[in-house]
Amino acid sequence: MRKAALFMVLLSVSVHLNAQQTIKRTLKLMGSRFDITVVAKDSTAANNYIDMAVVEITRIEKRISSWDPNSETSLINANAGIKPVKVSQELFDLIKRAIGISNLTDGAFDISYASMDKIWKFDGSMAQMPSEEEIKNSVSKVGFQNILLNEAERTVFLKLPGMKIGFGAIGKGYAADKAKELLKTKGVEAGIINASGDMNTWGKQINGESWKVAITNPMDKNKAFALLPIKNEAVVTSGDYEKFVEFNGTRYAHIIDPRTGYPATGIISVTVFAPKAELADALATSVFVMGIEVGLNRINQLPKIECIIIDAEGKIHTSDHIEIATK
Ligand code: ADP
Ligand code: MG
Repeated sequence: MRKAALFMVLLSVSVHLNAQQTIKRTLKLMGSRFDITVVAKDSTAANNYIDMAVVEITRIEKRISSWDPNSETSLINANAGIKPVKVSQELFDLIKRAIGISNLTDGAFDISYASMDKIWKFDGSMAQMPSEEEIKNSVSKVGFQNILLNEAERTVFLKLPGMKIGFGAIGKGYAADKAKELLKTKGVEAGIINASGDMNTWGKQINGESWKVAITNPMDKNKAFALLPIKNEAVVTSGDYEKFVEFNGTRYAHIIDPRTGYPATGIISVTVFAPKAELADALATSVFVMGIEVGLNRINQLPKIECIIIDAEGKIHTSDHIEIATK
């Protein structure tokens, strides 16, 4: 009798497991490719969850996009040098955290990078290097110290006329965190929000294994050099191997140091592992700007954060506590 009961329980568990499905949908959100994967009891349920994630990401995009002239962010930018703008608690908090990352990275990360004059072009159209003067002037309006927050009034004021903020290096990560959080509260046990390579995972695959992320070497794009298991965390890679310009033998990447106006050099890709995609996203861009030595040093001081850097020669540098079996 007891045996039979136990057997029944086991049977129902296995039926339940077998019935689980992994559904993935690819779509364009926030101007980028998103792949949303959820594990659910059937495809109808999975698709409903994916719909919920899409609604959430679209909601965030409306709030933070600087392309949308009606977004809160555009309102802040339009009032730069004029007056403080009252914003939602959500945007206020995001800006506050972004300033926190600026402090952590000595300004390598700066959402006011958006105030930069676009003197660098990475589409092959640049004939010569800009002058030192032009480069210096291009960042004259950049500086997170001039983003003034008033906690009591919940306002944001950009001090200099013409100043702008943008969430290009943190927005996708934030949206991925929020979508993951929402689906978890709805009871989704496992999934991946992949925002153009910004991966945010939770739970495990149906076969019981951890989700895995392939790290590719930009020098040989078709070959992954490591396949790393990820557990309930985010992995973000920053780096565009095609977008760069070369002058006098130096390769300038498309990420520009907001403090100097010069593009980052020496690194072609940075991958950051962190508990949250927002921080991973921001730090990947920051390490690019900080460079190998300062970047690794900073990462090694942060709990639960790891990083893999590939330099311009294709050499791999890792933070202290990461183990990769390179092939
Ligand atoms: P992508 O999301 O394009 O893979 P990143 O996450 O590295 O790449 O973000 C690059 C984007 O971040 C740029 O296109 C720009 O919008 C923004 N950005 C560039 N430099 C900085 C910086 N120093 N601080 C904050 N944001 C930046
Ligand atoms: Mg980034």
